[in-house]
Amino acid sequence: MEIKYFDNAATTKVKKEVLEKMLPYFQEQYGNPSSLYSIGRSAKKAVEEARKKVAQLINCMPNEIYFTGCGSESDNTAIKGVAYANQKKGKHIITSKIEHPAVLHTCQALAKQGFIITYLDVNKEGIIDLEQLRNSIRNDTILISIMFANNEIGTLQPITEIAKIARMYNIVFHTDAVQACGNVPIDVKKMGIDMLSLSGHKLYAPKGIGALYVRNGIEFEKFMDGGHQEKNKRSGTENVPGIVGLGEACELAKNNLNYHMKHLQELRDEYIMQVEEKIPNVKLNGSRQMRLPGNANFSFEGVEGETLLLNLDAKGICASSGSACTSGSSDPSHVLTAIGLPKDIAQSSLRTTFGEENTKEDVQYLVDNLQEIVNNLRKLS
Ligand SMILES: *Cc1c(COP(=O)(O)O)cnc(C)c1O
Repeated sequence: MEIKYFDNAATTKVKKEVLEKMLPYFQEQYGNPSSLYSIGRSAKKAVEEARKKVAQLINCMPNEIYFTGCGSESDNTAIKGVAYANQKKGKHIITSKIEHPAVLHTCQALAKQGFIITYLDVNKEGIIDLEQLRNSIRNDTILISIMFANNEIGTLQPITEIAKIARMYNIVFHTDAVQACGNVPIDVKKMGIDMLSLSGHKLYAPKGIGALYVRNGIEFEKFMDGGHQEKNKRSGTENVPGIVGLGEACELAKNNLNYHMKHLQELRDEYIMQVEEKIPNVKLNGSRQMRLPGNANFSFEGVEGETLLLNLDAKGICASSGSACTSGSSDPSHVLTAIGLPKDIAQSSLRTTFGEENTKEDVQYLVDNLQEIVNNLRKLS
């Protein structure tokens, strides 16, 4: 059976052009970038070319980009790095209740070490309250970390406004932009962002490569001890093929951004329109306006999210349930709980995230099957 993939927030397929750019760095240009002979130098050159391309996607200097092993490592490095470098100044950190586990669990780990964490609420669309942010700032606040776009409900935060507040109080502002990079325009200089995390496999590059932008002048402690790679901030021999792939994916994302956004938005809006028209008792979770172009998240009242997923899987459809966390527990998602959904509604939710290869026909196939499956499951219950 042909696979219909609507789970691009979980991971994306590596683009052909990206893979092709990577291949020479496995068996031909396989040198260590720290080595001085020619295949070492050419690997080093490829890494620096890729750094420029990543920097161009978010409008920073190439020397403000640090390559990491994944988005989670970027988040850990940013948050722990700033916390440890500033702990004499203060130990208070502000984040939100709907962050990815890579941020939430990092903050929880710091809390065990004596840091104090404020978790901002979100409204029913999943947007933080700027007034609550201002009121949460203390003399000892050293870091604000708020995600650019949520991975479950796709809500976009008022990043420029948050950055303005952080700058006013001289607090470092980090954003987890793993879902946003390549899907919405990002300009760290214009927006006033100090640190930003991104990940290769969410933008058509491979798994196991990430990057962290750190504005020049921001101090952070290194996360990985060892050699002097990445200006002595991230030890470990560079993942040259991964870095080359990420660079290519960023360049393609920058060049295609307008078309890509429009394409995803059309698919998403068609899906939302048809679901609301054809399936009764559904609820769109998140914000209608402030939303990632490719994200839709619906609750289907009276239907168990996991059962829905299994039935969709039988039709070759890949989507994601918003209800269970990755550990397989049946607790409702912390994001859906934070936007005020009761447990049963949260557990009836389905996230579909569209990608560049999806077509209108794919969306039709999805809606038709969804309609039939939801009807059948509701009859049974
Ligand atoms: C996927 C994701 C991450 C983690 O990235 P990895 O590269 O898988 O470690 C972090 N934050 C958000 C918002 C994500 O969607």
